[in-house]
Amino acid sequence: MIGQTMPTPDSPAAVTALIRDILERRGGESYLGEAVSMTEHMLQSAWIAEQAGETPGVVVAALLHDIGHYTGEFGDDYIDRGVDNLHEEAGARILERWFPPEVIEAVRWHVAAKRYLCAVEPSYLEALSDASRRTLELQGGPMDEKEARQFAANPWRDTIVRVRRYDDGAKVPGRQTPGLDHYLELVEQVLEDWNVEAA
Ligand code: FE
Repeated sequence: MIGQTMPTPDSPAAVTALIRDILERRGGESYLGEAVSMTEHMLQSAWIAEQAGETPGVVVAALLHDIGHYTGEFGDDYIDRGVDNLHEEAGARILERWFPPEVIEAVRWHVAAKRYLCAVEPSYLEALSDASRRTLELQGGPMDEKEARQFAANPWRDTIVRVRRYDDGAKVPGRQTPGLDHYLELVEQVLEDWNVEAA
């Protein structure tokens, strides 16, 4: 595990290498009671986004939406920075150091999007996997009307909801996708483009 003294990676290549290292060591872990591993789930999410013609930023959001499950890998100081164990908020806080808003916001709100869709689209809840239905209760259940109205006003709503649907579709055992190398190239590209823009 990477210790507290780890310097913050400060180049696109270094951030990409950090993500690669985490996924290569930890990605074989099972994905919250689903029949696919974490890496399979992340690659399937990214692949579905890519097939849908999404921009590299949205494909990367789909790839990294569950990165918050690995918070401990990013150094213990995240605890001090007020990160609780809600994986979506933890993931967004990790990524906001380096990534553009479309990535961060899609990660931050992907659980809220599930609660939102359950409230506004009855068929959505019925189609959720058993594991996803179980976690829904822990996550607060379907949104009430006020919560749904607030969520609908999020400027990133459409992107967030699309990433949520890619997440939901990414649980098929044995599905073939491009490998991690392909998507890590996109990660590095998104970081480079954003660094240039933000400089
Ligand atoms: Fe997920």
